[in-house]
Amino acid sequence: MVKVGVLGLQGAVREHVRSIEACGAEAVVIKRREQLAEVDGLIIPGGESTTMRRLIDKYDFMEELRSFSQSGKPMFGTCAGLILLAKTVAGYAEPHIGVMDVEVERNSFGRQRESFEAPLDIAGVAEDFEAVFIRAPHILQAGENVEVLAKHDGRIVAAREGQFLGCSFHPELTEDHRLTAYFVEMVKEAQANLV
Ligand code: GLN
Repeated sequence: MVKVGVLGLQGAVREHVRSIEACGAEAVVIKRREQLAEVDGLIIPGGESTTMRRLIDKYDFMEELRSFSQSGKPMFGTCAGLILLAKTVAGYAEPHIGVMDVEVERNSFGRQRESFEAPLDIAGVAEDFEAVFIRAPHILQAGENVEVLAKHDGRIVAAREGQFLGCSFHPELTEDHRLTAYFVEMVKEAQANLV
C-alpha cells in the first residue's frame, strides 16, 4: 500500500487524510520534516499560503520539501498548496517552494464569490466533479509541459506537470474522492518506477 503524506502545519489536513484513506492508501500527517522520508507522495493542503509559508520556515521544512520534489515523488497542491508549489505568484518577487511551472494569482475570483461550488469537467478524472472553491487562486499561465486538466469561467483551475498536480479548489471537502484517487494512482506509478 502506498503512503501519502499530508503536510500538517496548517489548513484542511484531516479532510485529506479521510480522502486518502477512502482511496485505499495509507495517510501520514507530516508534522516534522524527517517524516517526509517515510512517504511516497505528498499533499499540500488548502489553508492560507502566507501562514503555511511562515510555518514552513519556522520548522525548517523548505529544504526538505525541495529535495522531496527533486526525488521525483508526486506532490499535489490544493488551493493554498497550489500557491506554494507554483514557480510564480503574481505580485510577489519570490515563489514559495517554486517547483511547478505555473503562474498563480491569489484570491482571484473576487470578493462576492469568495466561496462557491461549481461543476467541473476534469480531464482523465471526472466529467461532473462538484468543486468547492474558497478564496481560491487560479492559474494565469502554464508552462509548455503543463497539462491543463480543468477550467472554470475560462480560467485554469486544475493542471498537471509530470509529478506535480495542482488545483484551485478543495477536492477533499466532499464525498467525491476521484481527484484524490487520481493522485494516489500517480503515487503508485511513481513508486513502481522509482524502485
Ligand atoms: N486565499 C488563500 C491563499 O491565498 C488560499 C485559500 C484556500 O486555500 N482555501 O493562500
